[in-house]
Amino acid sequence: MRTVYLNGDYLPENEAMVSIFDRGFLMADGVYEVTSVLDGKLIDFAGHMARLKRSLGELDMINPLGDAEWLDIHRQLVRVNEVQSGGVYLQVTRGAPGDRDFVFPDPETTPATVVLFTQSKPGLIDSAQAKTGIKVISVDDIRWGRRDIKTVQLLYPSMAKMMAKAAGCDDAWLVEDGFVTEGSSNNAYIVKDGRIITRDLSNDILHGITRAAVLRFAREAQMDIEERPFTIDEAQAADEAFITSATMFVTPVVEIDGAKIGTGTPGTVAPRLREIYFEESRKTAI
Ligand code: PMP
Repeated sequence: MRTVYLNGDYLPENEAMVSIFDRGFLMADGVYEVTSVLDGKLIDFAGHMARLKRSLGELDMINPLGDAEWLDIHRQLVRVNEVQSGGVYLQVTRGAPGDRDFVFPDPETTPATVVLFTQSKPGLIDSAQAKTGIKVISVDDIRWGRRDIKTVQLLYPSMAKMMAKAAGCDDAWLVEDGFVTEGSSNNAYIVKDGRIITRDLSNDILHGITRAAVLRFAREAQMDIEERPFTIDEAQAADEAFITSATMFVTPVVEIDGAKIGTGTPGTVAPRLREIYFEESRKTAI
């Protein structure tokens, strides 16, 4: 049984209890982060902490813990749960004011609810999907307008994933006004004539920590990058496609809406970026 963290305590997972009045439960009023773990170490921890602070700030929530405390909790959980490969999930909600009300509670009297737990995923690096690539379908992006905030409001991404599964695919790319925004839980890319194309940052997409790292490493490797929106038609005509996220790293996409991308197998750019990502991010793992 896992040990989890809840509001200052380390507890067996079946003893960690949150109030029915918690605003995360009643209103999806909370934010989260997922930091991946490789070789028992946290990947890009600073990036995830920076985005957590930004998400909290955008929602007028107070960061309940200091940097050193966040790091300590992450490390303790990885250690006691003996996670070699997997991730740490962190969630902060606006707490449990003791009743249901649309008005935000006073943070002085209603402290945030802080939950962290680990997910062990042996073989994460050599996943089958990284070797074969994944198949995606396109679906309408009907999410709210602040996708840059990493909220726990994940119903539509979850529905999109179910639509993909029903279509015999692995994931969905979300499309708004004719352009791909991102994947259900990852950022989306295509490669054409050696150029990496991915949507530019705005409130329309989550600012992926893996995206930032991969683009940085790609620039350092002198690869060409174009940050702009692209369509499904353009993606289907691309040489390669791929996604990035903290749990999928760089994973090739080999089919979109039934059309094979390139040869229908992972190309050269995505696997190379995946390798560079592992090599570089391991250097700063803590
Ligand atoms: N977009 C969305 C909608 C996501 O949910 C995620 C992963 N949480 C990402 C992109 C990728 O972000 P990261 O690289 O920080 O995991």
